[in-house]
Amino acid sequence: MASIFSKIITGDIPCHKVAEDDQFLAFLDINPVAKGHTLVIPKLEVDYIFDLEDNLLMEMMLFSKNVGLAIEKTIPCNRIGISVIGLEVPHAHIHLMPINKLHDMSFEKDRLAFSQEEYKDIAKSIASYVSL
Ligand code: AMP
Repeated sequence: MASIFSKIITGDIPCHKVAEDDQFLAFLDINPVAKGHTLVIPKLEVDYIFDLEDNLLMEMMLFSKNVGLAIEKTIPCNRIGISVIGLEVPHAHIHLMPINKLHDMSFEKDRLAFSQEEYKDIAKSIASYVSL
């Protein structure tokens, strides 16, 4: 069965898209740890990130860098934190989060919630700084 992220890629499930090329998609996390929390996924459905072929993994990191720098331009922060967990969704993904201190990256704190309009504006703003 297709992962929830594969369904996002095919458009069967909506997302707030931030960036896309032929191999990767970036979109806002639905339960963000921080404003601008973005997920980068490969279009190839592979569960564990270390099972990705080396070149694809490297390109995914470069794509994430591009998106991360765009988040940085949109959300004031010290830097972009990068995290890989993958315990909830079995489709490899990189979390990109604007952070100012260690706790900002904690997945144990209460998640934030924004209106659809706010998610749309955040995604649009980040997307405007992505240069692929
Ligand atoms: P993990 O697999 O533990 O790295 O966490 C998966 C992440 O995906 C969580 O932060 C969820 O909030 C996020 N997530 C799950 N479903 C969606 C969705 N439909 N759209 C955007 N983000 C999602």
